[in-house]
Amino acid sequence: MLIDSHCHLDRLKLDKFDDSLDAVMAHATEQGVEKMLCVGISLDNREAVVAMAENYPQVVSSVGVHPLDVEKGLATAEQLVAWSAHPKVVALGETGLDYYYSNDSKSVQQDSFVVHLQAAAEAQLPVIVHTRDARQDTLDLIKAHGCMENAGVLHCFTESWEMAKAAMDMNYYISFSGIVTFKNATELRDVASKVPLDRMLVETDSPYLAPVPYRGKANVPGYVKQVAEFIAELKGVSYQEVIRTTSENFHNLFKKAV
Ligand SMILES: [Zn+2]
Ligand SMILES: [Zn+2]
Repeated sequence: MLIDSHCHLDRLKLDKFDDSLDAVMAHATEQGVEKMLCVGISLDNREAVVAMAENYPQVVSSVGVHPLDVEKGLATAEQLVAWSAHPKVVALGETGLDYYYSNDSKSVQQDSFVVHLQAAAEAQLPVIVHTRDARQDTLDLIKAHGCMENAGVLHCFTESWEMAKAAMDMNYYISFSGIVTFKNATELRDVASKVPLDRMLVETDSPYLAPVPYRGKANVPGYVKQVAEFIAELKGVSYQEVIRTTSENFHNLFKKAV
């Protein structure tokens, strides 16, 4: 079972698919994608992502406030816990720290991340973590406020092997997107070759970051196939082995996703 562990179905560009989300979903099914996690990023899109999960049996969702959306409004731990009671909400996030695009909001990002980690521990759900140029702070906050048992995932991973290793030591999974297929991503490929398959997830992060050979075009969940194929080649294992192990990992992490 091929799973896109991270996509933004409410933000897809549909012009190549007759402006139809149903057509995007049919394309994903044709590519072998049997499940996808539609990720929340703000208070504004919470209802839209949960509606995706209600409308499509193969979709589950998360609720959270992205580190680059903290200025649009923050969620309290009580709100996150309450929203996550929905049967198809399987995780909190995406949350985390992004100092690459925004240094000004550092402390607000940190506060919001802590709130998500605390709410996740209370709701007994995993956390979807976005991290960019904030290695030590991300690891320190997970260590201080995270829950080892429910853990989480560092999604669309682009950081160092040391960071991946430290996160895996805290029971986290590492998710690779189409970036790993990019020509200049030599260091990331080195990290991906070291991360054991049984700690790995694959994702599109669509509509962003389409994998080769679609790089620069609008990304859709069906293209997670190209990411999984690339990982198989990189690790010298079969495509079937990659989709079997990554979907097992997905279900080990997102236990509510049946
Ligand atoms: Zn992200
Ligand atoms: Zn995302």
